[in-house]
Amino acid sequence: MIEKIYTATPNGYLASLVEIEADMNLNSLPATIIVGLPDTVVQESRERVRSAIKNSSFQYPVARISINLAPGDIPKVGSHFDLAIALSVLLAGGLIEFNPEKKMFIGELALDGRVRPSVGVLSMVMAAKRAGIKEVFVPMANIPEAVLVSGVSIYGVESLVQAVEHLTDAERLKPETKKAITSEIGKNIEVDFSEIAGQQLAKRALIIAAAGFHNLRMVGSPGSGKTMLAKALAGILPSLTESEIVETTNIHSLSGKLPSGLVNVRPFRSPHHTASSISLIGGGIRPKPGEVSLAHNGVLFLDELPEFPRNVLEVMRQPLEERCVTISRAHGTLKFPARFILVTAQNPCHCGNHGDPLLVCQCHPSEVIKYNKKISGPLLDRIDLHIQVPRLKYEEFKNVSVNESSEQIRKQVMVAREIQSKRFQSSKTNSEMNSNEIKKYCELDKESENLLHKAADTFQLSGRSINRLLKVARTIADLESSQQISHNHLAESLQYRQITE
Ligand SMILES: [Zn+2]
Repeated sequence: MIEKIYTATPNGYLASLVEIEADMNLNSLPATIIVGLPDTVVQESRERVRSAIKNSSFQYPVARISINLAPGDIPKVGSHFDLAIALSVLLAGGLIEFNPEKKMFIGELALDGRVRPSVGVLSMVMAAKRAGIKEVFVPMANIPEAVLVSGVSIYGVESLVQAVEHLTDAERLKPETKKAITSEIGKNIEVDFSEIAGQQLAKRALIIAAAGFHNLRMVGSPGSGKTMLAKALAGILPSLTESEIVETTNIHSLSGKLPSGLVNVRPFRSPHHTASSISLIGGGIRPKPGEVSLAHNGVLFLDELPEFPRNVLEVMRQPLEERCVTISRAHGTLKFPARFILVTAQNPCHCGNHGDPLLVCQCHPSEVIKYNKKISGPLLDRIDLHIQVPRLKYEEFKNVSVNESSEQIRKQVMVAREIQSKRFQSSKTNSEMNSNEIKKYCELDKESENLLHKAADTFQLSGRSINRLLKVARTIADLESSQQISHNHLAESLQYRQITE
């Protein structure tokens, strides 16, 4: 009987279970063949496994060894199949004996038999749990992410020999235990609110953005502090919940960029405008999450927005609408989550002086229009808050009043978020309300209704713009714990559309 050994392969956000079978034919010329849609890295596994087995004091079987990775229709990606393939060869060759049932093995082998860290371990351990597997063997370095999954025993292995000794009861390993995971809030505060001089309107807009998960666009001259403001946003968002830590860690693990075991701070991503659409959205030959997914549960900052190629900005539409990214491949489609607050920054024109009270704009009026037309309407449509960030005057720099710290502001944000979680009975936020919910939760009194009517006529507001105004007004009211949207709340929300359309 051919024994099955389990491992998994990343397949978008979720991984798929893979069964490995090895068959030994002693009457054929010695060779090792891997079938079942392995990519080139998996093919190279043959050489690593052969050396690792020999250098772990085992005899590599002299036979024709056929290794099948099932199911055959899912592409197998990565170098982490080594450990499972090596054990499968040892088992088929009769060199060791153990029961592989309900066990999964993940890890790349070095030529001397050491187990190296792997990419996407968390998603594979989750796949193991879904398949009813009870024990998962992972590289030592991947323990912090693997233990995030409860209900599965995790064993960290350093080498092939260590795995064999455990499986054959020569020397048992101890299962790893889950440590309490907490969100480390203060760690990603690169810029504290208290350090920002002036810019009251921009700071207020950031608080509203954080409280209602609204996207924000800042227009201002170079040197007005737009980047600093964007960085301050990540520090006033509520701490990550446990399920958000799992989601975020999983994405970063799949991208191969997992810092220190797991992600427990809100991500802040700021891709450069020369970034390709693949690095922004995700995909590639071995599909990896892009910047929009690495920003999941955090902030995506696009500085110098008009400099991004139009086709790159066009592909942003799906994540902004559906909060996820779908990548088409020859063998089906893959999905990665992408729920983030989008913050964009740009100059008002090429020279940067348009609208400045002191400096003269060198651009022709038609150039100013052309510069701003570079950003497509559908993208702007997804942004609720639009503000101007003027250059600070000397007195504003000098007279730094005592500002609230990011920690104090986060408390205000939390109050508004709690109101929303009670309202929607989920993690939904005001910015994600559909038109029915807007009708239900954004009722206006007579005075506010009149104001909205007047504004709609004066500024020729579209239905979409009116909905945006109401969503922002809802968040402003929530920040004051007010059930009713007042005239003042609505009037304030009108300020944040100064430069739209
Ligand atoms: Zn100009």
